[in-house]
Amino acid sequence: MNDLILIINAGSSSIKFSLFIQTAADPALLYKGQVEGIYVDPQFSAKNAAGDKLADEKLPADAPRNHDYALRYLLNWVQSHTEGRKLAVIGHRVVHGGTAFTKPVKVDAGVLAELDTTIPLAPLHAPANIGPMKALASLLPDVPQVACFDTAFHRTQPEINQLYALPVELAEREGIRRWGFHGLSYEYISSVLPDIDVRAATGRTVVCHLGNGASMAALHKGQCVLTTMGFTALEGLPMGTRTGTIDPAIVLHLMTHLKMNAAEIESLLYKESGLLGLSGVSSDMRELHSSAEPRARMAIEYFANRIVQQVGSLAAALQGIDALVFTAGIGENDDELRRLVCTPLQWLGVQIDEAANKVRSGEPRRISTAQSTVPVYVIPTNEELMIARHALHCIGL
Ligand code: ADP
Repeated sequence: MNDLILIINAGSSSIKFSLFIQTAADPALLYKGQVEGIYVDPQFSAKNAAGDKLADEKLPADAPRNHDYALRYLLNWVQSHTEGRKLAVIGHRVVHGGTAFTKPVKVDAGVLAELDTTIPLAPLHAPANIGPMKALASLLPDVPQVACFDTAFHRTQPEINQLYALPVELAEREGIRRWGFHGLSYEYISSVLPDIDVRAATGRTVVCHLGNGASMAALHKGQCVLTTMGFTALEGLPMGTRTGTIDPAIVLHLMTHLKMNAAEIESLLYKESGLLGLSGVSSDMRELHSSAEPRARMAIEYFANRIVQQVGSLAAALQGIDALVFTAGIGENDDELRRLVCTPLQWLGVQIDEAANKVRSGEPRRISTAQSTVPVYVIPTNEELMIARHALHCIGL
């Protein structure tokens, strides 16, 4: 039967995959895994849906260290675990859709050519996203592919929330607008919200996607009104190693006074800053919590503080707030960070329930008291499932 859905999430140094099986309801996860460290020391790992490790191995030492080989290795493993079933569709996570792609699309030669034009907008990610589509088109020509975009969900932002105050002609010519990212995560949260809180789903909800990359979005009736990331995934909140919003004149200062070049500044802004830069300890929230270094604590408090500021900003954009949602690695697991965010939001009607906040679970849950006028939820995100749903829908299944 052709009822398997393969999801590919290819980055600059890793390719992640998930294999789903079609069911009468939502697609069900069978396996997930990845090849990491593609250009350094490639390592393949895979787990089943229960989280049991099925593979954890280095790729052959004499094999090419590139995306093509990593993809073929991964595909081999998948094909030896299909138990006679066949792939119905392959869904890809694509970071940037530019203006051309505002919803998922079935990949063909025209789409691939159009995707190439998005490379200047996401020079680090786009080539890694597009490469596997081209490779799979020749490896598995009979299996349809669908591209799903992280920017698409944010196209409902009102025009003024998508613009920078730059000369219009320049901005339009260069595609300099507030694209927003993490759209597949927000779309998933938006899709499950009606089952969790109808008032939030039909009203005004602020969602905090807090992982290594972190952003927030204001949803009205499930659609995006404003999000914190902009032209790139650097704007907004500070992140593991990224600055978040800084005064752009700092970049001019680095260029003119320190004579730093573009590559050096890029590395500083993307890889050396954020929680890592502030703490001098780590970009990883768990390590910051376990560190005795005072700057590690300061970095956590700084992160929480910026989230609090953005809740105010997004609530203003929504003209009120009916619910607050935490998701992604930190949002789902870090009760202390959630407490640091919610406590200063009491003025807004947020009242966190200390015991509920400490509950560990993979299920959506409410962590605010019954008296809290703004309910607060933890909702585990599932970008892969969102892509699997889109992939099936796009090919008419
Ligand atoms: P991304 O997908 O952006 O790479 P994730 O959503 O996986 O990131 O989130 C990674 C972050 O989540 C890391 O900072 C990690 O420390 C944090 N995290 C994961 N588990 C916990 C936990 N139990 N407590 C605190 N932080 C956690």
